[in-house]
Amino acid sequence: MASEYIELPPDDSSTVNSNNQPSLMVDQASLNQHITIDFLTLDQNIEAITNNVAPNTQLWPVIKDDAYGHGAIPIAKRLAPQVHGFCVVRPLEGVILREAGIRQPILVFEPPNERNIAVYTSHNLIASVSHIRHLDLLESGCSYHVNIDTGMKRLGAPIEELPVLTQAIQKRKDIYGKGVYTHFYKADDPGSTTVVEQLDLFQRLQSQFPTEWLRHTANSGAIFHYAKQLPLSFDAVRPGVCLYGYSAGNQAIDSLSPLLSWQSRLVHHQPVKKGESVSYGARWRAPRDGWVGVIPVGYAHGLPRLLSNQMQLSIEGTLYEQVGSITMDFTLIWLGENKIPLGSPVFLLDADQLRANVWAEKTQTIAYEITTRISPKVPREYVG
Ligand SMILES: *Cc1c(COP(=O)(O)O)cnc(C)c1O
Repeated sequence: MASEYIELPPDDSSTVNSNNQPSLMVDQASLNQHITIDFLTLDQNIEAITNNVAPNTQLWPVIKDDAYGHGAIPIAKRLAPQVHGFCVVRPLEGVILREAGIRQPILVFEPPNERNIAVYTSHNLIASVSHIRHLDLLESGCSYHVNIDTGMKRLGAPIEELPVLTQAIQKRKDIYGKGVYTHFYKADDPGSTTVVEQLDLFQRLQSQFPTEWLRHTANSGAIFHYAKQLPLSFDAVRPGVCLYGYSAGNQAIDSLSPLLSWQSRLVHHQPVKKGESVSYGARWRAPRDGWVGVIPVGYAHGLPRLLSNQMQLSIEGTLYEQVGSITMDFTLIWLGENKIPLGSPVFLLDADQLRANVWAEKTQTIAYEITTRISPKVPREYVG
């Protein structure tokens, strides 16, 4: 039994970047794997979000970190007609969206600093303010929301500091307060009392700010686990992970579906005899004579190595076991006696059985980390 290997096609334009230098980043990844993002599913997830919040609630989708790995610009362009604003973490993310033609308000979660303060005005970004220092930094004409801490203890203004902050706000007539918000720290857990506590606190504190300011609190967990019982929609919500089809916690949400599928193809076959090991460390042995297939995807592309011997892949709708250690650029699949043709599509993630939250559970993390870690060198394609 001879092994075979698909020869990669010779260099084409996609492997040469604008400096005419061969680009390894593009080469191997683009030829044999890609991510597909389904916009129709995004539309359905938006509908599921809208169904959960009070009528007329504004949507301010969170598209930080390249829309959790899905691509901030295409996602923003698709969402733009249906939403009021966008949220990002760093000002540079906002700059990139502005340069791509996004016109909606963009709220930046990270507090401003001396080095980046100018882009808030040059690119019309909304700052998050949680200290008088931030107010002092803001250039004339800039807009901001006040972030108040109700328990997250990350970036929000501590309650004790609010009197000083509200006083300072009144003195700066040349900048524009537009909103006040807080962030829930345990809304992914449907049975937590902390959401009610934070909400009560926010209700009390928000009254110190002008009534025309936008009020917003809810992340995905709040929208799907609490918004039916609690008045936490206010004027706007900040959905993040739910847009991309995942729930914030372990509780699956039927009305959401992942946008993302990750597809590669079989590039190699390897015959194995019963008892022979495969890959580094001999962490798997063939239960009988058969075939091991190879896909050119590894942990360098964001496939967690911790999934070694623990994940399934789908070929033509049938699930196969991944076997042996996942390596930097290649991953092995037990095909049994089934010598599946080279070039066959192999799915790592899809919207059915192969979901990022399954990987997350097996690697003790959350779907957020799985999708944000898929390497940018894996090309994204958009359908729908
Ligand atoms: C990331 C983030 C969100 C969105 O959270 P999800 O759990 O993904 O919905 C909302 N607000 C703030 C302040 C955030 O940092």
